[in-house]
Amino acid sequence: MRVGVFICHCGSNIAGTVDVARVAAELRKVPGVAFATNYMYTCSEPGQEEIKQAIQKEKLNRIVVAACSPRMHELTFRRTIEKAGLNRYFLEMANIREHISWVGLDKEANTNKAIEVVKMAVAKVMQNKPLYSSSFKVNKRVLVIGGGVAGMQAALDCADGGLDVILVEKSPSVGGMMARLDKTFPTIDCSICILGPKMVDVAQHDKIKLYAYSEIDDIKGYVGNYQVKIKKKATYVDWVKCTAAASAWRSVRPRTPMIISTSA
Ligand code: SF4
Repeated sequence: MRVGVFICHCGSNIAGTVDVARVAAELRKVPGVAFATNYMYTCSEPGQEEIKQAIQKEKLNRIVVAACSPRMHELTFRRTIEKAGLNRYFLEMANIREHISWVGLDKEANTNKAIEVVKMAVAKVMQNKPLYSSSFKVNKRVLVIGGGVAGMQAALDCADGGLDVILVEKSPSVGGMMARLDKTFPTIDCSICILGPKMVDVAQHDKIKLYAYSEIDDIKGYVGNYQVKIKKKATYVDWVKCTAAASAWRSVRPRTPMIISTSA
């Protein structure tokens, strides 16, 4: 394993309160680290060029950039190392700016912390495996769990956006906690005046399939391809024939639930 470590100054953003040269010097002593340096602006064109050249010259196969938040430049550096022939996931970023230099004034303490954080990134990058992107079909269906006001609104937003929605509510009716309130803060509107229309919209929307008195039994899979088992509890009520659902509901006894499988 030959890890390359690049410590960024970010002008004085990092170098003002972290001794970046000492961080690089300490990292050179870490087993597996073949190269460590510090640079003024690592995300600049010359900064990225330095990484590419070091990968070729020092035969580096893992890279750590100690700089800003990965939200800012992780993709930049992934692309950089990919151009130099490495898998883009052989990169780790250590955030020594937002997590250290911007929040601490003690240079000695900041430097020690930066050394530890960069060492952790080195340990992590040594475990990284090459990853490759692929594409696959996703089920454009949404499962919303919980039919309170937030769940109902989420279901309506998705359904109005053209997605098929499965809404699962554990109690016999949607509405949730808000249905128990008289008024809502700060407008002091009656809560059912807000909830009622949403409950009707959910019940009548073509794209929403509502499972009331049901619970999630099992979830497997991953984003875009979940397999979900919904446990629909017995009600003893024939909803088509029943004309007094509330009184029928009170007389029901527990019975073996029905399991429905769906994917979303
Ligand atoms: S990589 Fe991040 S920390 Fe370094 S110069 Fe660019 S913005 Fe600043």
